[in-house]
Amino acid sequence: MSNTNHTGGARVAFIGLGHMGGPMAANLAKHGYAVSAFDLSADALRKAREAGVAVAPSALAAVEGASVVISMLPASRHVEGLYLGDGALMAAIPAGALVIDCSTIAPASAQRVAKAAADRGLAMLDAPVSGGVAGAAAGTLTFIVGGDAAALERARPVLQAMGKNIFHMGASGAGQVAKLCNNMALGVIMAVTGEALALGVAHGLDPQALSAMMAVSTGRSWATEVCNPWPGVKPEAPASRGYSGGFGNDLMLKDLGLAVEAALGTGAAVPLGELARNLYALNSRAGRGGLDFSSVQQLLLKAE
Ligand code: NAD
Repeated sequence: MSNTNHTGGARVAFIGLGHMGGPMAANLAKHGYAVSAFDLSADALRKAREAGVAVAPSALAAVEGASVVISMLPASRHVEGLYLGDGALMAAIPAGALVIDCSTIAPASAQRVAKAAADRGLAMLDAPVSGGVAGAAAGTLTFIVGGDAAALERARPVLQAMGKNIFHMGASGAGQVAKLCNNMALGVIMAVTGEALALGVAHGLDPQALSAMMAVSTGRSWATEVCNPWPGVKPEAPASRGYSGGFGNDLMLKDLGLAVEAALGTGAAVPLGELARNLYALNSRAGRGGLDFSSVQQLLLKAE
C-alpha cells in the first residue's frame, strides 16, 4: 500500500492504543491522516507518541473536530462505557462524523451503541478485525463489517490504510456475529490440532513430521501450518517462544463466551464451541491466560 495522502482532510480520533489499536493508529498517521489518539494507559500513550501519533489528554478532547471516530477496546463493557457511560462521548462527537468500533464485542452491545449513534444522527459501523498484532503492524488486517453500506463506503479509505480485506456482512451487529463464527472455528481447530499432536507424540511420532504431513493433508489448517501449537515445530509461532505474543488465551476465551452467548439468543447448537470455551477456561486457570491461545496444547500433554 502506498503512503500517498488520500485522506481527503479526514481527522481521525482513535481511542484504545493497545496491542492492536497502537499499530492501527500509527498506520493511519503514516498514511497522512491527522490522528488524535487517547488511551487510559500512560504506557500506551507513550508508545503511540513514539510511533508518530499525536495524543490527546482525554477521549472527549480526542474527538474534538473529528470526522471519523475509531475505537479499539478490550470488551463490550469498555465500548458501552466509553460511548454511553458517564463521559457521554457519544454526545460530544461532532455532527456528521462516522463512528467505527473495531473491538470484538457482543453483537447486541454493538447494536446498542449503534442505536445511540443513530439517535444522534451519526452513522456507526461494527468493524472487528482478523489478522492479529502482526496484521495490525503490517496494515494487512481483515475488517469484518456490520452496518449501513453507504457508511462503509465512507469508511473504506480509512479502513484501507489499516487493512487489506473488507467484508460487509450485513446490518449493525453482523460484523460481530461473523467475527465470532470465525474465532469459534479457530478455537476449536487449535484445540483439536493440539489433541492430534499430543496423541501422535504419545505413540512416539515426531511432532515436526506429523505436522508436515498434516499440513498437506485433510487435517491442514492455520494451526498446523502457521501457528503450530507444539513448541519448536514452527520457529515463528508463539509456541516456539514460550507462547509469548500472538492472540491471548483470555481473548479467545472471551470470544468463545460471546459465541456461546450469541447461540443462546437464537437456539443455534454450538457443542464444540462450548467445549472449546471450557478448555480455554481451564488453560486460563492453569496460569496461561496471558499467553497465546495455542498454549492450550499444554493442557493436552501427558503429565511428566
Ligand atoms: P489491549 O488490551 O492490548 O488494548 C486495549 C486498550 O484499550 C488498552 O490499552 C486499554 O488501556 C485501552 N482502554 C480500555 N478502556 C479504555 C477507555 N475507556 N478509554 C481509552 N482506552 C481504553 O487489547 P488488544 O489486543 O489491542 O485488543 C483490542 C480488541 O481487538 C479486543 O476486542 C480483541 O478481542 C480484538 N482483537 C485482538 C487481536 C489480537 O491479536 N490481540 C486480534 C483480533 C481482534
